[in-house]
Amino acid sequence: MAGKMELQFLGVGSFFTKTDYHNNLCINSNILIDCGFTAARSLRDQGRNFGDIDHLFITHTHADHIGGLEECAFFNRYVAGERKPKLNLPAPLADQLWEGSLRNGLQDEAAGAHGLEDYFDIVVVQDTFEIEGVSFRVVPTNHVTDKFCCGLVIDDRVYFSGDTRFDPDMVSEHGSSADVIYHEVQFFEGGIHTGLAELMTLPEELRNKISLMHYGDNWVDFQTEAEEAGFSWARRHVSYTH
Ligand SMILES: [Zn+2]
Ligand SMILES: [Zn+2]
Repeated sequence: MAGKMELQFLGVGSFFTKTDYHNNLCINSNILIDCGFTAARSLRDQGRNFGDIDHLFITHTHADHIGGLEECAFFNRYVAGERKPKLNLPAPLADQLWEGSLRNGLQDEAAGAHGLEDYFDIVVVQDTFEIEGVSFRVVPTNHVTDKFCCGLVIDDRVYFSGDTRFDPDMVSEHGSSADVIYHEVQFFEGGIHTGLAELMTLPEELRNKISLMHYGDNWVDFQTEAEEAGFSWARRHVSYTH
């Protein structure tokens, strides 16, 4: 888009967070990237609700990214007056989100709810797509083997890593031309996420662009170390303009 866009994280926490809500990103107040099971409470903290969200995009099917979709669906159908937000899905997720995750909660034949399309306007997106003038480029990541997951390049100036193991080539490829990089982090090594020590190995010009997200509640224990290496922190409910 020609003008500035506003990014605001509903949360910046990991799956297990109890204080910082799940790592769900709101763009220009009505586009929501991922919808974890803390999203509704985070919106309520701001005097908002799922009726204020017009577009959703889902990066992958862990509950900190889709666990709020059932409430979003029911709220919009039964509380907000049969609203149908647009649900943007990469093709691999469009096939599995209903059958693999949401069907048991949302299916209600007697009420005419047979599928995801009865709650949302489904938009199956390609590698690049646009929502209300904001352009998005899908960047598939290596998170859980055999499970689709992606990050996003937003409007050619923001690189949002999504959930991913450390992949320095990917950070360089998509982060070098970005104004800012929002990158997930964990404070230990191993598993399916990126360790702070791994991010420390990136060149300084990339580290200086990285705002950390999707972190544990003990982040303050690592604050000094990370900031001395050039990183900053995305914080929940703070608006960032890019
Ligand atoms: Zn995940
Ligand atoms: Zn996650």
